[in-house]
Amino acid sequence: MTLKKNTIEMPEYNEPKIIILHCAATPDHLDSKHSKIDFDVEDIRKWHINNNKWADVGYHYVIKRDGTIQMGRLETTVGSHVKGHNKGSLGICLIGTKEFTDAQFKSLDKLYIDLYIRHGIDSRDVYGHYEFADKECPNLDMNKMRLRFLNITKGLETSEGLNS
Ligand SMILES: [Zn+2]
Repeated sequence: MTLKKNTIEMPEYNEPKIIILHCAATPDHLDSKHSKIDFDVEDIRKWHINNNKWADVGYHYVIKRDGTIQMGRLETTVGSHVKGHNKGSLGICLIGTKEFTDAQFKSLDKLYIDLYIRHGIDSRDVYGHYEFADKECPNLDMNKMRLRFLNITKGLETSEGLNS
């Protein structure tokens, strides 16, 4: 009897060190061409499995237009969102293309705080897809975003100091 090799495909272990932001490239507004803007992780999962033939949704988190944070791939599983930079990163996808909602930014801040606390991901280690590939995604000024996250972590340190 011969043992079959690789009958179970084990996902590659991921140790998050950086965050990479994305947009879903879905419409920002309802109009004559678009009757839906409320896409979610299940839609993206379908596209990535059916169209890209991937095992699962490529991102670790999806943030809906109403600010709901949805889990995609496990953080401990290597994602599929930036060629050559999947290992060691977490992919966060904002539903929309370039006009994100206040609720989405609020949730992104919360999610960043959580990842900063749990994984120690510095604000300097948050990137946009366009910084690794010839793309516009996620259509955010990443220098501004890193400054935004830096200010959030500074705020956390200040409030910790007041408590001690
Ligand atoms: Zn992207």
